Amino acid sequence: MFWFLLRLIKRDFRWGIDGSLFKNDRNYFHYRAENIPFRFAVSSAKYAIQKSNYGDVSIEIFHDPKHHQNISHLIKSIQKTLAYCENNFGKYPYQTIRFAEISSFTRGFAATAYPATIYINEKQFHLNLTGGEGQDVINELAGHELSHQWWGNAQLKPVYRQGSGVLTETLAQYTQLMLYKNEYGEAKMLEMVEVYREMYESSKAFSGEEALYSADPDNANVIYNKGLVKMYELYLLIGEAKINAALRALLEGHRFPLGPATTRDLLEELRKVSGVEQYGEVERIFKL
Ligand SMILES: [Zn+2]
Repeated sequence: MFWFLLRLIKRDFRWGIDGSLFKNDRNYFHYRAENIPFRFAVSSAKYAIQKSNYGDVSIEIFHDPKHHQNISHLIKSIQKTLAYCENNFGKYPYQTIRFAEISSFTRGFAATAYPATIYINEKQFHLNLTGGEGQDVINELAGHELSHQWWGNAQLKPVYRQGSGVLTETLAQYTQLMLYKNEYGEAKMLEMVEVYREMYESSKAFSGEEALYSADPDNANVIYNKGLVKMYELYLLIGEAKINAALRALLEGHRFPLGPATTRDLLEELRKVSGVEQYGEVERIFKL
């Protein structure tokens, strides 16, 4: 399905095909990209493809034919995520969203997002959701990874520097949390917050207790775990509507190819929506 995936990617990014060649039992392709935000990836496998859509956005799930069990749930989660993000942050920027299963020989992540394409490790892809742990991993994955199509590394492209991980991972964690709340309610959301709080507390002796505002972008414990907990505090303080208005404004001012955003820009947008009395608290959430 190598050629097929590339042919589909071409629609979004206006690739120019310079020619293909069949030689020594192999297909060779030469593509020239014109409008890719800054990174892309290619996967090759004997994929089955299940298609659906959200409005004019085509949804395509590239998967091992044996791993079909969670696909309809995944598609529903994708549709809900697209609806939430489009309603709150702006139009999805591509024609297609693809989720592709990849081998668990690829270590180090559960899923990762590229513009218009999200890769999911097969371990996550066909998890038994009725296994009794009470966690909807597919919902979390779709919420987190798909929201990256709005934040870093897609529309928002922070420069690698202190605090930049907040504009990538913490904002994706926040979106995941809101989607989880909308699906399962406040009590389940609080359970999720406690899971992340525990993960942060148990690792902070190693990671340090950096403030989000200036966190090392590689400090995963801070930008993912502390990040989710702090965004929950922000949610309690100013509410979802104001946070989303600030994030939408941040994106409008810094959407690729406009200039990159920093956590200072994020705080400035939060200042505009939160009012003088609350802003001191907002700052403390990000700077402590
Ligand atoms: Zn992420």
